[in-house]
Amino acid sequence: MKKKIAILGSTGSIGTQTLEVIEEHADKFEVEVLTANSNADLLIEQALKFKPNAVVIVDETHYKKVSEVLWEHDIKTYSGIEALAQIVEMEAIDIVLTALVGYAGLLPTINAIKAKKTIALANKETLVVAGELITKLARENQVAILPVDSEHSAIFQCLVGEFQNNIEKIYLTASGGPFRGKTRDELLNITKEQALKHPNWEMGAKITIDSATLMNKGFEVIEAKWLFNLKPEQIDVIVHPQSIIHSLVQFEDGSMKAQLGLPDMKHPIQYALSFPQRIFSKSARFNFLDYPQLTFEQPDTDTFLNLKLAYLALEKGGNLACILNAANEIAVEAFLNDKIAFLQIAAINQQCMKNVPFIEHPTLEDYIKTNELAREVALTLVD
Ligand code: NDP
Ligand code: MG
Repeated sequence: MKKKIAILGSTGSIGTQTLEVIEEHADKFEVEVLTANSNADLLIEQALKFKPNAVVIVDETHYKKVSEVLWEHDIKTYSGIEALAQIVEMEAIDIVLTALVGYAGLLPTINAIKAKKTIALANKETLVVAGELITKLARENQVAILPVDSEHSAIFQCLVGEFQNNIEKIYLTASGGPFRGKTRDELLNITKEQALKHPNWEMGAKITIDSATLMNKGFEVIEAKWLFNLKPEQIDVIVHPQSIIHSLVQFEDGSMKAQLGLPDMKHPIQYALSFPQRIFSKSARFNFLDYPQLTFEQPDTDTFLNLKLAYLALEKGGNLACILNAANEIAVEAFLNDKIAFLQIAAINQQCMKNVPFIEHPTLEDYIKTNELAREVALTLVD
């Protein structure tokens, strides 16, 4: 039986790589649903190739174009944000791979869990915004959340066969991004072109900026807490510029397990889809002699304040990480539109965390309202 996959955000970096994995293993996986925000041309091209049952184009102005092409091929087209949230409930879907960017991932993921679909989670923002609610819901519905993020996939792979053993701590590795080693002064006039050049990974624009500010690593710390049920002091970040060790687990006997390989997102994507099996991959193999040195450094959280803010959000809990995520989405967009400087991203995040009211035990409605309010506050700081 082939696993039937819904890819939310199929036109993005993770989405297109997921389709490559599926194409390489057409005997094991089949595409059931594809979705995009506004890239109608690529969505059409993907749909004609992979013949899903249905597609969603969120931006309604593209609905006519997509549906006119796809109806002849018996592929259903839907549009709008509600359709995106509902499509995951389709009976035939086995796995929902969430590869859309930002807060938009939250409601579709909630619906997919309620519909008892296995989640392959790339959209870390979902766990940043509402990790407590999502993991509780997944437990209640006995739904597995399988990490796609490379560090979390590494931890997950290290934990196979270890579920009865206590984790002392985990180390999330960080490349350090394009500005590793730079001082605040040197970051004053960073352009978006400089920030969009990641040394080791090709990714969408938002996560590339998040990697440059270390917000991405901060979000990954929060993501790890929820995925592996850890306390903040059990999660450490270590800068490892070569991105070969994808992350490590240290057990209570002091022994450490790491997962290694060349940086290639198709590996964690494939593992999430094929789990619990490993299946063949033709990806390039690691050669020790190409990497005679693997090096490690402490992250500089004074320069890259976002990582510190993420730990603060983790320790205080409540809606604070939701505030941080919303502020960051607005700040990154403003930076990409040349409205603010690079260092202002973290400054805006910090200001929003101070200004938006704290809620200790948020409900889903509280998260939705917090997200809206934090965006409004961040917008006032951008203009
Ligand atoms: P991209 O920007 O490349 O792709 C985002 C996808 O989501 C596109 O298909 C886009 O559609 C769609 N999308 C964007 N905004 C919305 C919205 N508001 N509503 C519905 N759909 C939307 O992002 P990435 O693939 O880089 O990242 C996706 C997620 O995976 C992020 O959460 C990121 O943090 C995470 N991740 C990514 C990694 C990577 O290597 N790229 C590594 C680890 C995690 P359209 O094309 O039409 O705009
Ligand atoms: Mg990652």
